[in-house]
Amino acid sequence: MSSSRPTWVAGNWKMHGSLAGNAALVDAIQKGLKAGITGEIVLCAPFPYLDQVSRLLSGSMMTLGAQDVSQDAAGAFTGDVSAAMLADFGCRYVLVGHSERRRLHGETDEKVAEKFGAALSAGLRPVLCLGETLAERKAGQTEKIVIRQLEAVLTLYGAAAFQNAVLAYEPVWAIGTGRVATPEEAEAVHRLLRERVAMKDSSIAAELRIVYGGSVKADNASFLFAQPNIDGGLIGGASLEAKDFLAICHAANF
Ligand code: PEP
Repeated sequence: MSSSRPTWVAGNWKMHGSLAGNAALVDAIQKGLKAGITGEIVLCAPFPYLDQVSRLLSGSMMTLGAQDVSQDAAGAFTGDVSAAMLADFGCRYVLVGHSERRRLHGETDEKVAEKFGAALSAGLRPVLCLGETLAERKAGQTEKIVIRQLEAVLTLYGAAAFQNAVLAYEPVWAIGTGRVATPEEAEAVHRLLRERVAMKDSSIAAELRIVYGGSVKADNASFLFAQPNIDGGLIGGASLEAKDFLAICHAANF
C-alpha cells in the first residue's frame, strides 16, 4: 500500500440483506471502527436498502455505494436504476462491470464503459471491476484481458476520468471461491494497470486507487495490502460479518 494514496475498502453485499440484518451489521461495524481514520470504507448495498443504509451511515466515517447502474439517464428502461437516482439516495460510489454482471447479464466492455460514464456524469465515483477467468489465466491471457477491459474506458473517457474513480482487480476465479490470488500475482496485475494509465497521465496514475477483490479474508488481507500497488480491497462474502469485515479494515490500517 502506498503511503500517498488513501486506503479504500468496500463491502459488496451482493443480493444479501434485510432491514433488521442491515441495521445490526452497520451498527456492529461502526462500533468496531477506530476514530480518526483516513481513507474510505464504503458499503455497497442492494438498491432497495440504499435509503436505509444511507440513514444508518449518517454522521459515520463510512460512505454508501451501489452495485450497478444504468448507462441511460432516464426513460423506458423497466427495472433499471439511473446514476442520478443513486446520487439522490446519497450514494458516492457505484460498482460497474462486476464479473457477475458481465457473466450473468451479458454486460460487454462497451456497456460497462457507458455505465462508467453515466456514473461520472451524475457526480458518482465509478468502481471499475475487471479481471480474467481461470481459463484466460491458464491460457496466459490475463494481461490482454485486463488491458482490454481497462482500455474500453480509457479510450472513451481518457485518463482524466480516473481522477474520480477506483479500479478493482477481481480475478473471476477468486471471487467467492476461497481461492485468493497470491500477493505477487495480484501486485503484478495492479502494477500493469497503473503503468497503462500512466502512459496517458502519470500523475493521475500515481493517485489512482487500485484495489483487489476475490476471497479477501482476515488472514490474507494484510499480505495483499502490503503490496505497493494494492490500495485496499473489494470484499464480498467477508463483508457480511462485522467481525470479518472489521478485521480486513484493520489490516488496511483503519
Ligand atoms: C466480490 O463480490 O466482489 C468479491 C470479491 O467477493 P468475495 O470476497 O466473496 O470473493
